[in-house]
Amino acid sequence: MAKIYIDKNNFYTNLDIITKLTNDVNKIAIVLKDNAYGHSLDIISELASSYGVMNAVVRDEFEALQIKDKFKSIIILNDFPSKAENNFSYVVNDISMLSKISDKVNIELKVDTGMGRNGISFNQIIEAFEIINARELKLIGVMSHYFNADVDSKDFDIQKKQFDKIKKIVKNLYSSKLRFHIANSAGTIRGFSDDLARVGIAAYGAIEIAKNLCPYDFKPVLSLEANIISTRTIDKGDIVGYGASFKSKEHCVVSNYDFGYADGFRRSLSNDFTAKSGEKLVGRISMDNSSFLGKSKVISIFDDVREVSGKCETISYEILTALNCKIKREVK
Ligand SMILES: *Cc1c(COP(=O)(O)O)cnc(C)c1O
Repeated sequence: MAKIYIDKNNFYTNLDIITKLTNDVNKIAIVLKDNAYGHSLDIISELASSYGVMNAVVRDEFEALQIKDKFKSIIILNDFPSKAENNFSYVVNDISMLSKISDKVNIELKVDTGMGRNGISFNQIIEAFEIINARELKLIGVMSHYFNADVDSKDFDIQKKQFDKIKKIVKNLYSSKLRFHIANSAGTIRGFSDDLARVGIAAYGAIEIAKNLCPYDFKPVLSLEANIISTRTIDKGDIVGYGASFKSKEHCVVSNYDFGYADGFRRSLSNDFTAKSGEKLVGRISMDNSSFLGKSKVISIFDDVREVSGKCETISYEILTALNCKIKREVK
């Protein structure tokens, strides 16, 4: 199978930048959902915790349990508690969840500041705190989420102001100290003033943000290599792959490599991709393999996912999270 390399130095360079932005490594919450954006939950949680990051964000309890001993605090974005640990906190995405969730687990209340996705609405804040106080729920944080911080628009400032307003209101409704957090990577870069920065894509060095908003040079952490399966010489007129979409114009050498669409290679790149190491892709991408001109034993498919996502007209997140979890990940 193909192989994924995780560049520890680049990851730490990115964490250095983020530490400067938050002014305090304790304020970083590394987002590890979905196998750490395809990088490997195991590897990235280990590296982040060795760096000194104390907080993590995951999708569900299954992910949280795998890293429970590595972080002081783990935020679970969307799950109901069944095996809660003391360092877990569960995001409340809807007002109805406040009546259902156990009063024994830590919770973070999400308030919608304009994204229109998850969280209680601004008008439900008073009602939410009536329930929280009456049920004596273990609320530890109030959060929101930016929907447009990566592009140059006023939405960022509007949401930031709205969240500041929410902080003031909440401080009058709840007696214990809370942590407040709204920023993702782009929000952290544009202006951080909270207790926690939930940073994913910038830490992985794959942030795609308007240049004028980000003067920092985040370094890509993940690179991918494919290994040769077979090689052959073909003549003018010979075809390669399903559908005979490539017909050779000359005598040439073609090799087949162990990276296909089931591994996360976009099939739409068939006949339209050049490996980072220079080999031209020929024919259709198959499920478990693809063919390139030449006979190198190992080829570099990419070392900056943004070049692939740009070509596929999608975002780096989608390419990264689609990488088959069976591909071996190794720190270099
Ligand atoms: C995924 C996610 C993040 C991280 O976003 P990035 O753009 O990768 O930094 C932060 N907060 C929430 C709620 C998320 O779902």
